[in-house]
Amino acid sequence: MDLAATVDSLMDRLTADLAKLAEIPSIAFPGYPESEVHRAHDLLVELLRDAGVEHIERIDLPDTSPVIYAEIPPPTPDAPTVLLYGHYDVQPPGDESLWKSAPFEPTPIEGGLRARGIADDKSNVMAHIGMLRAYGGRPPTGIKIVLEGQEEYGSAFDDYPPTDARRFACDAMVIADMGNLRPGTPTLTTGLRGVAEVVVEVRTLAEARHSGEFGGAAPDALLALIQALASLHDPAGDVTVEGLRREPWDGASYTEEEFRSLATVRDGMPLIGTGSLGERLWSGPAVTVIGMDTPTVDGAASAVVPYARAKLNLRVHPLQDPKEATDALVRHLREHKPFGIELTVTPSDAGPGFEPATDGPAYRAARTALREGWGEEAQFAASGGSIPLVNGLAKAVPQAEVLLFGAQDSMCNLHAPNERVLFSELRGAVIAEAAFLREYAAGFRAAGGGGGAR
Ligand SMILES: [Zn+2]
Repeated sequence: MDLAATVDSLMDRLTADLAKLAEIPSIAFPGYPESEVHRAHDLLVELLRDAGVEHIERIDLPDTSPVIYAEIPPPTPDAPTVLLYGHYDVQPPGDESLWKSAPFEPTPIEGGLRARGIADDKSNVMAHIGMLRAYGGRPPTGIKIVLEGQEEYGSAFDDYPPTDARRFACDAMVIADMGNLRPGTPTLTTGLRGVAEVVVEVRTLAEARHSGEFGGAAPDALLALIQALASLHDPAGDVTVEGLRREPWDGASYTEEEFRSLATVRDGMPLIGTGSLGERLWSGPAVTVIGMDTPTVDGAASAVVPYARAKLNLRVHPLQDPKEATDALVRHLREHKPFGIELTVTPSDAGPGFEPATDGPAYRAARTALREGWGEEAQFAASGGSIPLVNGLAKAVPQAEVLLFGAQDSMCNLHAPNERVLFSELRGAVIAEAAFLREYAAGFRAAGGGGGAR
């Protein structure tokens, strides 16, 4: 079959169904109506059934939106099984006055649609459905579909897969909560940084004291904190904390111009750090001060500040244990002692990064498939965000190859105002996923099947 022509003939209906799904404000955060999340769930169950999927269940976990679980058995005993992941909940829209159109009224833009969640991750959910339609509900591999309803807020599902490992058994998985480095550049995401947070506090006086009478000798908590924070980077902006892993990045990356535009860096403003952008963003550490408790400028009294604290967000190399990285940051801050003042440093939650093996048959099939989807060689890139469930799935099915690609792109404004999806990206993702299943099944059969996790 001519896959591209088949997918082209499906696009009108697929984008109409995507718009229908994106109209539903399926926000699984406290304070938003659960009924909308259930409405998105029900619509997807209907679309899956309509696409030929007979076996559909729901996984119900405490305080967690229902997870859709569906299966299509392998067409022949020597066919592999592929797990397809996506999520149907979305981020809250944020400040609606920053949107050019109402966030839950999908609105046409040049070559696509604008709405909250339409890229992250409803585009990828619809890519799975598009693939099923392209094959008339009978894809060339066994299929397991996992569509989560509370990814953005987090839920008990993150840790669930290892407790029910047989259910998730497969030979390869496509984690479709991802997309391309830029529109039209097919991208396999082969690294996710780990994350940790640390709070650092300084108490120097019982209360504030007149800066005229005491300033100059009284230990200033805010100055101490600023000195400690300043010690985290060298003059070029590279992280100085010892024990944080940093390696050259050998995959693709943004151009400096793309990065400046994506990060909204003002004209004439230098970037910080040295080395390639890939190394600074993905295979090296980053420390960001994300909050500080200090007197505000408008409310400032002429007084020595007795207490200050800051929250730091640490991003680490995909393969560094985030505990080990947190310990390194805590040690640095405790040993720093600005003016001889001891700081109280408290680590909080840490989440591991992820780096899949890329030398197996699923990766070979995916490179061919992504070229077919977008007409160019696939690139390897990484992403700064973490996907906790990926680690849960990889723990449940350690032998399975894990592929991260999809219909989003770095310019789609996910989690930001004016999120959008491009139809060219959705089309590419449907073709790539369908071609991947075909290529992977053929390779699997040629290798005599087996060797998989089923
Ligand atoms: Zn997402």
